[in-house]
Amino acid sequence: MRSTMMDVPLLVSRLLTHGSTVHGRSEVVTWTGDGAAPRRMSYQQVGAAAAQLAHALRDDLGVTGDQRVATFMWNNAEHLVAYLAVPSMGAVLHTLNIRLFPEQIAYVAEHAGDRVVIVDATLVPLLARVLPQMSTVEHVVLVGDGDREALVSAGGGRVAVHEWSQLLRGKPDRYDWPELDERDAAALCYTSGTTGNPRGVAYSHRSIWLHSMQVCSVDFGLSSTSRDLLIVPMFHAMGWGAPYAAFMCGAALIMPDRFLQAAPIAEMIATQRPTTAAAVPTIWTDLLAYLDSHEVDTSSLEEVVVGGSACPPALMHAYAERHGINVIHAWGMTEMSPLGSIARAPAGVSEEEGWSYRYTQGRLPAPVEGRIVGPSGEVMPNDGKSVGELEVRGPWITGSYLGDPAEAAEKFHDGWLRTGDVGTLSADGYLTLTDRAKDVIKSGGEWISSVELENALMAHPAVLEACVIGVPDERWGERPLASVVLREGATADPAELREFLEGRVAHWQVPEHWTFIEAVPKTSVGKFDKKQLRAAYAEGQLRVSTTR
Ligand code: AMP
Repeated sequence: MRSTMMDVPLLVSRLLTHGSTVHGRSEVVTWTGDGAAPRRMSYQQVGAAAAQLAHALRDDLGVTGDQRVATFMWNNAEHLVAYLAVPSMGAVLHTLNIRLFPEQIAYVAEHAGDRVVIVDATLVPLLARVLPQMSTVEHVVLVGDGDREALVSAGGGRVAVHEWSQLLRGKPDRYDWPELDERDAAALCYTSGTTGNPRGVAYSHRSIWLHSMQVCSVDFGLSSTSRDLLIVPMFHAMGWGAPYAAFMCGAALIMPDRFLQAAPIAEMIATQRPTTAAAVPTIWTDLLAYLDSHEVDTSSLEEVVVGGSACPPALMHAYAERHGINVIHAWGMTEMSPLGSIARAPAGVSEEEGWSYRYTQGRLPAPVEGRIVGPSGEVMPNDGKSVGELEVRGPWITGSYLGDPAEAAEKFHDGWLRTGDVGTLSADGYLTLTDRAKDVIKSGGEWISSVELENALMAHPAVLEACVIGVPDERWGERPLASVVLREGATADPAELREFLEGRVAHWQVPEHWTFIEAVPKTSVGKFDKKQLRAAYAEGQLRVSTTR
């Protein structure tokens, strides 16, 4: 029997019309820095601007069909307008990651066939450097007061430069959004891939909808009463889906624009009163140091979501105990829209047991199926002990890469996405990652989790950050090298840190190689860049001491 239900397509335009009418009084706040008042726009105004942008793109720039419109922007109101307008008109939004290397930015723009780029004034110098290599780009739209001439000259006669405010002025504030196929591409992201070229993932209208519904569920946390401080960039992994989810449920958004340092973030919290926030661990680490040494009113913040790389338990405790803020650990990937799991403790457990659940990467929601696979492709039990690579599948998980380069075939296994993350799944569905497949340290045939060592080290009061990599060892194959960043004014030596690790990790896992560095190198999106650290080690740039 077929169901009797209507088959109404799940389209981004529906999120736009719903959010801008039913939640028309919700607001997006954009930080402007330098003590200036933040800019405020209601969702009703965002909806009107989205219609105007769509008219401008269609009538003035000639964007039709599924042409690609890229953004080169911080988190701000105009970026939100583009997020909604571009897919709603049937075009495809490509959120260019401004932190990729210039050659990679040019590569992804070319690969995606971007025709238009919308750029924030403060990012013009960066775009001007790569624009000559972006051969498919015909139009640049400049938002704000920026160096128009730099764009004109970088465009070399091929690129027309427009100004956002002029382009939108006088355009109708309604648009007859087309009926689209919900399975068509709405938005594009490229993985920040530490090896090879970035790979493209195309989200559908349908996948964005389903993902948004999850983000608006109680466990994932956005609702009509939330005020979400969206620190995680909209140019990486769709800002964790918050922009679309906010339009679905009416959550207010507080956008930091380019002000991502601890001091302005603290000011945003104190003055804009967010109830939730989302960012990678490094942001929370920096903010913690600031909050510990300044008087800041954080009383509105009920919880913050941390993901993108493993959240050290010490960071969660510090926020809970010193600032009364609940840090909730989440895991995801660009390939997964990006949300995979969220770590809330199950009902009815003691506080102490609850913490052990909260340290994990969390539980997978119903639409995300996961399994642990061993080295020969065998599926292992969900017993919380069997360690292998995590594979996932579900309606908001990519089943291929754009253009499907042959080398990407190894990323899929019988219709599942191989995440490259190594860990366990427990019988009650909690995922614990012990490493990236390529970061696991193989010592004497056994695996050492670099993340576990890092977390244990970062629990030491003198340690600000610790990053552990495997280095070649004649006898064991590989042994861990701990690179440690000490807190300002703190001291600790390898002997003390080794002693601290005894009892926290197995004796044979305690690193004998140590180096003290000023800062852990980070990738374009703020993750520990182990590749760079390995290269520095291989080139003899690290001063390593060995103590057994
Ligand atoms: P990206 O696609 O750039 O967001 O990177 C996704 C990868 O980040 C995942 O495959 C994990 O390796 C890592 N990651 C994300 N969240 C976490 C987390 N909570 N704990 C550990 N690793 C994480």
